[in-house]
Amino acid sequence: MAEKVAVDPQAFKKAVDEKTNARLKMWLEICAHCGLCADTCHFYLSNDRDPKLIPAVKGKKVLEAFKKKDKIDEAFLEELYWTVYGDCTMCRRCTMFCPFGIDIATITSTGRGLCVSQGKVPENLVKTIESYYEHGNQMEVSEEDWIDTLQWMEEELQEELPGATIPIDKKGANLLYTVNAREPKFYPMDISQAAMVFYLAGEDWTMSSKGWDDTNLAMFAGDIKAAGYVSQLVRDAAEELEVKRVAITE
Ligand code: SF4
Ligand code: SF4
Repeated sequence: MAEKVAVDPQAFKKAVDEKTNARLKMWLEICAHCGLCADTCHFYLSNDRDPKLIPAVKGKKVLEAFKKKDKIDEAFLEELYWTVYGDCTMCRRCTMFCPFGIDIATITSTGRGLCVSQGKVPENLVKTIESYYEHGNQMEVSEEDWIDTLQWMEEELQEELPGATIPIDKKGANLLYTVNAREPKFYPMDISQAAMVFYLAGEDWTMSSKGWDDTNLAMFAGDIKAAGYVSQLVRDAAEELEVKRVAITE
């Protein structure tokens, strides 16, 4: 849970101004309240059809935030926080059913960005973002552990396919393969299985010692600045290795 924070109305207004754009304004204004999105949301369905959990109603909370600008208080920030972090996973299912294509997930993400301006972000996501900055991945995997894991998985691979390798930092390869940081931490065999596919397909591929985590939980948190930093890590690795393409694990 996020800690209680003092409200900074000016920072909130600045975030509102920065995030206001024509597409968002249109989405926030055109909802016809038809209710078609209600039954698409798992939060609504699994909470006795609580009207507060209808996607359009959650979108309205963000609209309220945009209208309030610097007129926010702690109580409102608390409500917004729970709506955008607690009541929406940004799955986009509701958008598939909205006749106007109103993208509640993007609206939620924008609402999260407003909370970021107040430092009001779930603690676990804050720790994850710190890990990206410190270790370059969301799971606090050190470079040494990452390389050890790749070498260990290469040994496993060679038991089945002698001669197969897991190339690291190979310059000019066709493909840079990136993974979810949960793989080296919890499911390392996924890496050797992917390597098996690449080997049997005759792919010219590599993994990178840096910028290998393809998740971006900073984006999920609504922290756009940190999200840009995380994306740049993979981009830098791809440019440094001069690969032609980047593949992600999921
Ligand atoms: S995007 Fe959010 S509001 Fe829409 S269905 Fe998914 S969880 Fe529900
Ligand atoms: S389906 Fe679209 S227009 Fe209808 S209530 Fe939901 S968000 Fe509004």
